[in-house]
Amino acid sequence: MNEEITRTSLEILFSISRELATTLDLHKVLARVLSLSTENMGAERASLIVLDGSGKPVDAAVIFNGVLTPHTVEQMQDVVTSGLAGWVVQKKKSVLIHNTNKDHRWLMRPDEDSDTNAAKSALCVPLMARDTLVGVLTIVHPKVNFFSDEQFNFQQAIAGLAGIAIHNAQLYEDVQAAHHRYHDLFEDSIDPIFITSMEGEIIEANHQAALTTGIDQNELPMMMISDLQDLPPEMIGSKFEPTGATESLTYESILTCRKCDKIPVEVHVSTINIQGNQYLQWIFRDISERKNLDSLREDLSAMIYHDLRSPLANIISSLEILRSMLPLEENSSIKQLFEISTRSSERMQRLISSLLDINRLEAGQQITDKQFVDVDKMINEAVETILPNANSKELDIEKMVLGKIPSIFVDGDMIRRVLINLLENAVKFSPQNSKITVGAKLNGDQVTMWVEDHGPGIPVEAKERIFNKFVRVHGEGIAKGLGLGLAFCRIAVQSHGGKIWVENVTEGGSRFILTLSAAV
Ligand code: ADP
Repeated sequence: MNEEITRTSLEILFSISRELATTLDLHKVLARVLSLSTENMGAERASLIVLDGSGKPVDAAVIFNGVLTPHTVEQMQDVVTSGLAGWVVQKKKSVLIHNTNKDHRWLMRPDEDSDTNAAKSALCVPLMARDTLVGVLTIVHPKVNFFSDEQFNFQQAIAGLAGIAIHNAQLYEDVQAAHHRYHDLFEDSIDPIFITSMEGEIIEANHQAALTTGIDQNELPMMMISDLQDLPPEMIGSKFEPTGATESLTYESILTCRKCDKIPVEVHVSTINIQGNQYLQWIFRDISERKNLDSLREDLSAMIYHDLRSPLANIISSLEILRSMLPLEENSSIKQLFEISTRSSERMQRLISSLLDINRLEAGQQITDKQFVDVDKMINEAVETILPNANSKELDIEKMVLGKIPSIFVDGDMIRRVLINLLENAVKFSPQNSKITVGAKLNGDQVTMWVEDHGPGIPVEAKERIFNKFVRVHGEGIAKGLGLGLAFCRIAVQSHGGKIWVENVTEGGSRFILTLSAAV
């Protein structure tokens, strides 16, 4: 290798590296690499294929007799899986072929005829960015034995620079795409979003922010975020850093609007980094619907309480008075009717109490009415309540209390209703003449209670779901309920710090199990 050539090569390499470093446009990079690689070689044809992480072509450029010709990625798919380029992609090694007719890796292109298929020289180099293959460059010259070792080495040096330039251009494209995606999400979001400085000056607001507040999108950047909402006390200060320790904060507030009433919102504020600077991103979610539902729930509770519960309590106390006035022992028909009305009104009272409990426990109220409750006695009372229904289906109710069970410190009426609910379901779903087991045992410091039946059981996919409100699994042929019983059981048990779940019984049927802490 003479000194003159080496110097020229170094100069070319230097100018290539300078040129490639100044562009981040992938197509420009590809075109420049191809023309720089072929410029001084009089090459007939050169192709550069860009690959993704899995080796699939994602971009390509081909130069033919000095003219850049468009090529689709699909056309390149075969090239990178077979022939010379395929070999280079697989081995990640450069190849110099002095005579293409004598190398099995060289494949004729479909558009080549016998004239152009004369022997040629070819070199093919992988383009690497660190250890990752990002492309493959092939250069073909119409003469055999054309490329010298020095040109081959030179081409590998260009490949090194090209690999990094392509990688940088791809990274830049990814960043640009991510930026566009964020911007589209920002603009198209159905929630108002504001970007502010750490001091709360609005820098950018999306389309929805302008729509919701009724303030022009260009006018918003002249305002402070505190002009639009009541800030929570922990954010009042010179800097609104969400909480100091964490990166984000969620709170409820009121959004001030120009064209409408104030809107209740849930605000999610987080710090974001844009080009090395810290900003705050505020997302406002309209929670008017939720607030309306909350007040509807309160109205409903009040309605149930006043319009149903009080009259029902009157019916029950009147029945109690009637008990001593009616000739119940002498007349069995009257006694039967009397018991039906007592049981039905008590059942209705339990249902109303459970509905009220769901409402208040879901709203976050604590259990206040706790007392020490004897588990054995509570099970007896629950069984007694469902006995008439169980008898009419000729069910055998077995009680299985294992060992001495300590008391539990709970709202006794509520937990008894849980047991009654589970037993009522067991009766409802049990086949005629089958057995129901209700049991209790002590497990460490936990009292476990269970109700087992031999009905249809619960499909595995519904084991969690049946504890949600209004979920009913077995519709056909069985008296329909509201699907609120198990939802009540779960919230009642969980509000006592306990757990409830269902298991399927091997021989068919279901076992509902609940655990509560034993009183110490
Ligand atoms: P419902 O008022 O419908 O009984 P629940 O919340 O008590 O409401 O029960 C929800 C659903 O769970 C029922 O509709 C039924 O499909 C299923 N389920 C509850 N208990 C049993 C059981 N012991 N055996 C089989 N399925 C049950």
